[in-house]
Amino acid sequence: MRRSFGMLFQRSTTLTASPALRRAHEMMNMGDYAQAAMTFEQLAHTAEMRDGPRAPYLHLQAGRARMLNSQPAVALPHFKRGLELLIADGRYTQVYKVGQRIVQELKLRGLEREAREIAALVGGNTPATADLPTERGPDMATVVLPTHCEACGGPIRPSEVEWLDMHTAECSYCGSPIRAL
Ligand SMILES: [Zn+2]
Repeated sequence: MRRSFGMLFQRSTTLTASPALRRAHEMMNMGDYAQAAMTFEQLAHTAEMRDGPRAPYLHLQAGRARMLNSQPAVALPHFKRGLELLIADGRYTQVYKVGQRIVQELKLRGLEREAREIAALVGGNTPATADLPTERGPDMATVVLPTHCEACGGPIRPSEVEWLDMHTAECSYCGSPIRAL
């Protein structure tokens, strides 16, 4: 009995996503950044309390929603918290890739000071690029991933995803396996 309960639980956490997470991604897509931000903030808070592996990405998405909602002062602490959690986990390749993207996005919006703060956080906490561990995963020129996660609706960024095996990436937001097309 115990074992089957455990398996059921595992199945439900890997193959389905919480309705709140789905809604947050939907609101993001519809441009309702304020509502999306509030939901991502709640999800990030809950995930962090549980020490969940998705907490960094939920913070980063909360930051992105606040940035798109023209609230850079609220966005910045979320970006920092997300990156700090990745740093604490020693996930330096992720810190580097995600950090670079956030810096670019901030610069595109003329948020130079915020961009410098994030660049400094990333630069001060990651090894030199040459020393970053090589990630497992396929040659990205040979695989195509869906644009969105089927389970939670979150965006899939091929350059940033982590790979479970040579054909399967992992959704950053809900942990569902994403099969290459
Ligand atoms: Zn997902």
